[in-house]
Amino acid sequence: MLRALLLILGLCISSTSAAAAPVSRDDPESADPGQAAISTAAGDAVVVTANPRASRAAVAVLKAGGSAVDALVSAQAVLAVVEPQSSGLAGGGFLMHWDARQQQLQVLDGREVAPLSSRPDDLLQPSGEPLPWREATSRPQAIGVPGTVALLWDVHQQHGRLPWATTLQPAIRLARDGFRPSPRLRRSIGIAQRIGVDHSPAFQALYLPGGQPPPANRPFRNPALARTLELLAKDGGPSFYNGELAQQILAGMAALQTDQPDFRGWSPADLAGYAVVQRSPLCHRLRSYRLCTVPPPSSGGLAVLQTLALLNQSNALSGPADPQTWRLLARAQAWADADRLYWVHDPKDGAIPTGPLLDPVYIQSRAIALQTSPAARPTPGLPPGLAAYPYALPEQSREQGTTHLAIVDGEGNLAAYTSSVETVFGSRHLVAGMVLNNQLTDFAFRPSINGQPVANRRRPGRRPVSSMAPMIVFERGQPLLSVGSPGGRSIPHVLSRVLLASLIWREPPARAVGLPHLSRRRNGLVLEQDPPLPWPVALDQLTPGDQPIRSQRLGSGTALLQKINGRWHGAADPRREGTALSAD
Ligand code: GLU
Repeated sequence: MLRALLLILGLCISSTSAAAAPVSRDDPESADPGQAAISTAAGDAVVVTANPRASRAAVAVLKAGGSAVDALVSAQAVLAVVEPQSSGLAGGGFLMHWDARQQQLQVLDGREVAPLSSRPDDLLQPSGEPLPWREATSRPQAIGVPGTVALLWDVHQQHGRLPWATTLQPAIRLARDGFRPSPRLRRSIGIAQRIGVDHSPAFQALYLPGGQPPPANRPFRNPALARTLELLAKDGGPSFYNGELAQQILAGMAALQTDQPDFRGWSPADLAGYAVVQRSPLCHRLRSYRLCTVPPPSSGGLAVLQTLALLNQSNALSGPADPQTWRLLARAQAWADADRLYWVHDPKDGAIPTGPLLDPVYIQSRAIALQTSPAARPTPGLPPGLAAYPYALPEQSREQGTTHLAIVDGEGNLAAYTSSVETVFGSRHLVAGMVLNNQLTDFAFRPSINGQPVANRRRPGRRPVSSMAPMIVFERGQPLLSVGSPGGRSIPHVLSRVLLASLIWREPPARAVGLPHLSRRRNGLVLEQDPPLPWPVALDQLTPGDQPIRSQRLGSGTALLQKINGRWHGAADPRREGTALSAD
């Protein structure tokens, strides 16, 4: 009774203050009301992206005979113009690509890299305390060497059918001739303003003319970005790392160094040495499905696989109307987070025990613990084959922009790509019209604790641990579903819930993206406020009794593709401006 009262009180209090959820490491962008309807499409070739202009560009490419990868390049370039708060040319991301003819699954890691001048303590204050997260997001030390252009170029070299320059034309036109800024773009500019833009006159000049976001009823242009895209179209991806664009980026970074002398800057080798890494997919079986995702340095996929394995072991996979499923989902998220935040680091420093962390006996012991000790604070486990904990337990940060695209072409080639600049508009620093990421705030700020190193510590040439988790699910060896989402540390929470809905509850794609989310945070469980589809259980039944609950909007941006009766069905998350379109 008391618990129910506290819950109701908690919900009332948070509903008054939750009009806009705070931007945090869990939600690096704003959660806004989104759209009323869930955008869906079906056909042999389907596109789901976070913005209607990007989806239209991708569909036009497919109709012109382009491959899923051509459509991907086109859509990402358009997103860099129309959704710069979430992704862009000076960010990074992870791609899963299925080549239908070769029957081959590839993972490309285009994650940002720490420059050679990096030091482990770059995100500490002189006092030795970590910088506040928000303050760190605007530091030049937070900017990682970008991987997006290299990733797009590499995959286009392998799987592109249309000329590279052709795929970039829609983005060039939009940046040069202008477009009406969407509500979410304008709101995101307002949020960036609140986080802080004083450090970036270029941001203010472009996105805050006269101190206000650009008006909704007039074309917004980014001529510098149009020139950058034109250069990229003419000279190809390598120009970003070795050519004229590289010179511009290095000059921009040198200017930041002048403003902030404790920043040690970038050298030409930082850009020239950037390489996309091809990695082996991380796959795990769940019932009749084989779920494949990206391995470290992302930790998000591992967490999704662990969460679903924990639920499977707990026999907690009944329908959405069963409160126990939701309660155990919340706990499984927390137990999976404990492992991923402890164990995952850049594989450059040695293998991460992903296999042992998914071992059925190990999962079973964790499943028993989460069921029998609901009040226990989840800690990382010691998977089979390891005798001791090698790292310090990382701190959970006190405070706590990304996008996902899913494309299938008429031949059945699939691209699932999560792309990011980290926080809303990244560092808010701009070079050549591009938003520079702040992805290096994904490193642990404290590199060691009590003399013991933290796994995800910052060092030169290393990639920070990510939560991004593009996924492709196979059944009988063939792709059945593809999904991904932005959402920072909530990404595995969102994706495990969507996969539960699609694969186990057998919900159609629109319901799978629209049903509510819950997300386990440092200080308790967050239940989604005003979800697109209503909660299928009474919220007081969700009180697990072992953790405080609050209610807030959650800003997922799921893009889902699922093959049903031989046709692909796409659904876009209504929490953002996503649009599913068919090219048939
Ligand atoms: N920087 C985050 C990561 O790599 C992504 C942020 C987001 O989803 O908005 O996990």
